[in-house]
Amino acid sequence: MSVRTTASETARPVAPSRGALRPLSLAEVRIDGGFWADMQSLNASAIIDHCETWMEKVGWIGNFDAAVEGRLLSDRHGREFSDSDVYKLLEAMAWEVGRTQDERLDARLRALVARIEPAQEADGYLNTKFGRPGQQPRYSDLQWGHELYCYGHLLQAAVARGRTAGDDPLVQIARRAADHLCEVFGQGGIESVCGHPEVEMALVEFGRYTGESRYIDQARLFIDRRGKGTLGDIELGQSYYQDETPVRDAEVLRGHAVRAVYLAAGAVDLGIEDNDAALVSAVAAQLKRTIARRTYLTGGMGAHHEGESFGADFELPSDRAYSETCAGIGSIMLNYRLLLATGDEHYADLIERTLFNVVATSPAADGHAFYYTNTLHQREPGSTPSLDEPSPRASSSLRAPWYDVSCCPTNVARTLATLGPYFATSTENGLQLHQYGSGEVSASLNGGTVAVRVETNYPSDGEIRLTVTETLDDEWDLSVRVPGWAREGAQLHVGGEIQEVAPGIASVRRVFNIGDQIVLTIPMAARWTTPDPRIDALRGQRAVERGPVVMCLESTDVPFASNVDELRATGELVDIDGVVTVGVRHMVAWEEAWPYGVEAAEISPETQRVTLLPYHSWANRGPSSMRVWLPMVGDTPSA
Ligand SMILES: [Zn+2]
Repeated sequence: MSVRTTASETARPVAPSRGALRPLSLAEVRIDGGFWADMQSLNASAIIDHCETWMEKVGWIGNFDAAVEGRLLSDRHGREFSDSDVYKLLEAMAWEVGRTQDERLDARLRALVARIEPAQEADGYLNTKFGRPGQQPRYSDLQWGHELYCYGHLLQAAVARGRTAGDDPLVQIARRAADHLCEVFGQGGIESVCGHPEVEMALVEFGRYTGESRYIDQARLFIDRRGKGTLGDIELGQSYYQDETPVRDAEVLRGHAVRAVYLAAGAVDLGIEDNDAALVSAVAAQLKRTIARRTYLTGGMGAHHEGESFGADFELPSDRAYSETCAGIGSIMLNYRLLLATGDEHYADLIERTLFNVVATSPAADGHAFYYTNTLHQREPGSTPSLDEPSPRASSSLRAPWYDVSCCPTNVARTLATLGPYFATSTENGLQLHQYGSGEVSASLNGGTVAVRVETNYPSDGEIRLTVTETLDDEWDLSVRVPGWAREGAQLHVGGEIQEVAPGIASVRRVFNIGDQIVLTIPMAARWTTPDPRIDALRGQRAVERGPVVMCLESTDVPFASNVDELRATGELVDIDGVVTVGVRHMVAWEEAWPYGVEAAEISPETQRVTLLPYHSWANRGPSSMRVWLPMVGDTPSA
């Protein structure tokens, strides 16, 4: 088959049948300059190749060959869910081919699909871990087996392929698998769910893509069955896989963070297709409380290493932040769905925060190593992981090239490949920009097509210049998001007029001419941020943010101290064209035999200035200590 010359206008990651905002496609939103264009280039030039190379090396792709050749019993590699990472790679490749029409990448995608296809069994079953003679039987371990989770990623890869290139063997594999799934888990079938949610949103999207309601019906069965204890109890508790409380009855996201956000995203998808406002608003309320009480400054989610799970409300320790990259990505998927459903820009605010401070933090500057967990406080300089072996620990202190459990790199790859649609949406009469980067945005409104050229150095500076390049004879709305953190000072320049704009949506409605400009200016100067006093782990500390970017202090930038924990911030903060420095004092001769009952910390009277670094850039210069939240001098007894 040939690759299309332009990305299809159907190439959108989700396509809800109703909602306040319409999603745009890869063809309609193209990012071509600045921070996210660079990240997309890194994905194209390094990350996707890296994921494929490693999955060949560790044998996860080879498992499909072994299945066909009958070698699986003695020659299977990776964990029970390793198939899913091959599918996530396929999804990344499919979006990337759709975005760039890269024919060599398309050929690699087709070659991979050709290795997977013969491993599928006659009835549609596809999994390299279960079901063959000598292996555990199919669906004998729904708690931990991840079989339906793997189908979910297969279906999402097929949706990406179908929407960018049309029906092809990957779509056909997915259709056989989805039909099998409906057969086995449908009415009268196995009345259970998968321990790891994911298939729910995939089934809804596959139903949207194919136009067949049976897949959405199956998603509904899974959503409705969950929370009734079907999976049984485990050491981590049933909340680990969200099976202790029905989705509609829960008050907050809890348990394993990735599972929680994937399930919630699937519930929103189902609620939209069923026109079930109660289900959508139940999830929205759970997310609202989760954002208010269980989310890190970075947008990261998950405060427990045990169970990779959410902690209690306000339990957000920096040094034990799990904040898995995949949980951040799942949060973006969930927030995007609710943005589309409601038009509420608070969701776009959290998407921005999570993109800049979780997604952008995961890959190393060269795209060849990744964070799985994203701590906000590295107490001791770590050691460089092996470049040749997968890291056995998710919580590696420096980015590792691969992990025994390597869900995050492929998740980053598929997210970056399909980033454009997260930046802008449309309505019948308007175009809305939610995220900023240089590029082109177009949309079909009721009266025809409109288009805007965006020029900006965001987030280095806060000027976003929109030029209308295609317009209508009639009035239409051009809207921009004023970020929630820009509490004052944002301005909209329209023609010769300047107006102050508050966080949320700022809209201009008029008859636009080609060449008309609107300029949004957002004050970007670095600012201090204080935590909710109920977050005990942060009491007495403040963080610095610059625009949407969370800053950190890395020991690499502090030659006079051996560890950032020896420093106390004075509150002085200077931002000169994005070079952000803070005043600090050094704790001297701080040695106690017993770390309690201490009356005074000796702190140097001299203030020194240290430079802060965007958190997403840390740990690119070798082992270091690092912290986002800085203890303040005023909180130390002797100061
Ligand atoms: Zn992950």
